[in-house]
Amino acid sequence: MSESTVAIRPSDQAAAEAWDIAATVCDPEIPVLTIEDLGILRDTTVDDDGAGTQRVKVTITPTYSGCPAMDTIRDDVVTALASKGYQDVDVNLVLSPAWTTDWMTDAGKAKLEEYGIAPPTGKAAAGPVKVGLSVKCPQCSSLNTRELTRFGSTSCKALYVCQECKEPFDYFKVL
Ligand SMILES: [Zn+2]
Repeated sequence: MSESTVAIRPSDQAAAEAWDIAATVCDPEIPVLTIEDLGILRDTTVDDDGAGTQRVKVTITPTYSGCPAMDTIRDDVVTALASKGYQDVDVNLVLSPAWTTDWMTDAGKAKLEEYGIAPPTGKAAAGPVKVGLSVKCPQCSSLNTRELTRFGSTSCKALYVCQECKEPFDYFKVL
């Protein structure tokens, strides 16, 4: 697995089955997005302990440190796997390399826009300066938008307003 790219579904069959179950868990703050869409889900492994018990290890990376949704996501992953018969589930939080919006899948960005949140534009630059492009209004697709407040309903988002249709909207910031 390459470090700073979109996570790849494991090729091992048992691990892929566990991945598919974990991938159904949604982000509590943006319920249209799964943790796979967001790129939070990094890896799954399944080991047989020799006595017929499947031990699942799920690796997730929080969207930002101290994200309060992480405990919920962790519990939801355990619950989702338990409901499919995996009783021994270990959720491993990996903070480094840090999550960036580059890990969000294209499908995830499309769902975000449908939901009325402008997806992150541009790439998270390697340096301290994050390069953002014009933010597109999710309602009318105008690029004539401006930031109202740096911090919206959560610290991942900024509040924008469209100068064309006058609608305010959330923008998922490039991180
Ligand atoms: Zn608009």
